[in-house]
Amino acid sequence: MHTEGVDLLVIGAGMAGLTAGARAVRDGLSVAVVERSADVGGSARFAGYAWTAPDHATMDRHNPDGDQALKRALVDRFADGVEWIRSTGVEAKDAQPVLSFGRGHQFDTNHYVDTCRRLIVEGGGELLLETETERLVTEDGAVTGGDVRGADGERRRIRATTTLIATGGFQGDTALRNTHVHPHADRMQLRSNPHSQGAGYRLATAAGAAVSGDNAGFYGHLIPSGIPFADPADFVDMSLYYSEHALLFNLRSERFVDETLGDHLTAMALLEQPESRGLLIADARVFRDWIVGSYVKGAVAVDKYALASRRGGRVGLAEDLDELAYLPAEWGYDGEAIRDAVKLFNDQAPTGQDLTPGRELDRLPLDEGPYYVIETVPAITFPFHGIRIDDRARVLTKDGKPLPGLLAAGSDTGGLWHRAYAGGLASALVYGLTAAETAACAQRPRLQTKTISIDPGTESRPR
Ligand SMILES: Cc1cc2nc3c(=O)[nH]c(=O)nc-3n(C[C@H](O)[C@H](O)[C@H](O)COP(=O)(O)OP(=O)(O)OC[C@H]3O[C@@H](n4cnc5c(N)ncnc54)[C@H](O)[C@@H]3O)c2cc1C
Repeated sequence: MHTEGVDLLVIGAGMAGLTAGARAVRDGLSVAVVERSADVGGSARFAGYAWTAPDHATMDRHNPDGDQALKRALVDRFADGVEWIRSTGVEAKDAQPVLSFGRGHQFDTNHYVDTCRRLIVEGGGELLLETETERLVTEDGAVTGGDVRGADGERRRIRATTTLIATGGFQGDTALRNTHVHPHADRMQLRSNPHSQGAGYRLATAAGAAVSGDNAGFYGHLIPSGIPFADPADFVDMSLYYSEHALLFNLRSERFVDETLGDHLTAMALLEQPESRGLLIADARVFRDWIVGSYVKGAVAVDKYALASRRGGRVGLAEDLDELAYLPAEWGYDGEAIRDAVKLFNDQAPTGQDLTPGRELDRLPLDEGPYYVIETVPAITFPFHGIRIDDRARVLTKDGKPLPGLLAAGSDTGGLWHRAYAGGLASALVYGLTAAETAACAQRPRLQTKTISIDPGTESRPR
């Protein structure tokens, strides 16, 4: 087997891996990036906003059970992450609100990942596409690289002082989903790149990595039921982001979640309901303001009701509240009970008596016909369970100590989010940069980097 050595081996060329690789090359490290698909970018190609909670208090309020150190580092280093994007020549727009509590920047993720690829290759790094990592090499308890196999079947050992796992999660593997997300998690459509199938998780745990707790949930969105995604454009077009302004009922005709907390949390809650399906009901005001209006500034509005209808989804238009009672019997919902529940909500909403715990937004009644009804199911983008890391992106063992030579970043990691979410791109960006920092520290004697510090953006670097 052919053997060679680099300072940093990156496994996975998406948001986290490309960020780490580009930053490491810029900082003078030798880098090899291994990607299993024919192109770089992963799910980042479908995303558009680097955002997170603007301060610790907001992060703690919305993600109380996430790992403290990981949350703090994400909030503290986010601004440096945005500056890094700009330093590559990619525009990150001015800060704007995202969801009810976040702040972030719209940027062209395709431009960014292609720029990172160019920086890596032009900086002397090696990019190996269509290449699988068969195992991590370990010596004396330290990870010292990986054995990889290219599309032509050729095997190589890449020795590395530091190896970064960044394969984007295990959402593409239904068995891992059922074990670590929910026993019914295999029911969900995959709303992500198709290549993130748990390779990083398996490589790291085989080398001794610890993992975060189960039942942490997943990031995903509600989509119309019964419509297979035709192509990745559907990931955004079919997502029913407006659900926070609508009402959602399960098969027992009950509301089971505070919809105002956000579509991504509602998606998690719906997975656990009977048959993991429910009815989303909006009125004419919600249709006007949130279905055919943009849910976040800069996003293109798509009439999701018309789209679901065109594609053969279970949709219905009720002229008034009473018509809600006549839902098709084969759908399995009690239309009269749902009509009564919407009436009850309307009676309570204007007087502030909507008693749902943890309510985030003031609710307005749904009292303007017609009513737009879509049957909905959750779709998964990535799980919150994953490899345990510390705030320097070092993979931890079960005794809480760093596993020498091994780092992880992005959706392969766990612990940051627990049944809560505030930005997957932000976490991949910040921990990708942090991984490059940590890898540079491991090369410190060779690079004579006396001035390196851990916080991104504050150090001076050898070139
Ligand atoms: C439709 C959509 C919209 C989104 N919008 C936003 C948004 O606006 N804001 C936001 O914060 N987040 C958004 N996200 C989430 C965001 O894209 C992810 O959180 C982010 O891309 C995670 O980065 P990552 O590097 O961990 O994974 P990815 O970017 O998915 O990259 C993982 C890479 O690893 C590769 N890989 C997998 N297995 C292997 C292997 N065995 N060997 C080598 N390579 C491998 C994959 O092919 C891929 O290239 C969105 C996601 C989707 C799907």
